[in-house]
Amino acid sequence: MAELVELPGVARKTANVVLSAAFPEAHAADPDAGIAVDTHVTRLARRFGFTTHRDADKIEQDLMRLIPHRQRASASLCMILHGRRVCEATRPRCTECVVEPWCPSSLAAGCRDKAGQAKAMG
Ligand code: SF4
Repeated sequence: MAELVELPGVARKTANVVLSAAFPEAHAADPDAGIAVDTHVTRLARRFGFTTHRDADKIEQDLMRLIPHRQRASASLCMILHGRRVCEATRPRCTECVVEPWCPSSLAAGCRDKAGQAKAMG
């Protein structure tokens, strides 16, 4: 991680993607390797109540405190895919969501202004 973020234009998100996808052994062995925080991970982390931050580095730190090291690479991928396919930014599909029973931001209970609430959820 330390070497990757020294490269021009490479921040933690890219470094985490490269490490977890191309060098999983290095990701597993590096205590500073974490979670790639993109727009989907940001949105889901906030909707799940895992963070109150909007800054990617702070969100990653909050997630790293919650998610065991060995599960960080898969957690990032799962959150990205869930954000793309189910928990979309403006129209989260809460009634089809497998984690709906545990989600503090679920709209499944009924909300007339779902788009407005989804926007407010971040
Ligand atoms: S219940 Fe709704 S807001 Fe919560 S994760 Fe699922 S789709 Fe997103």
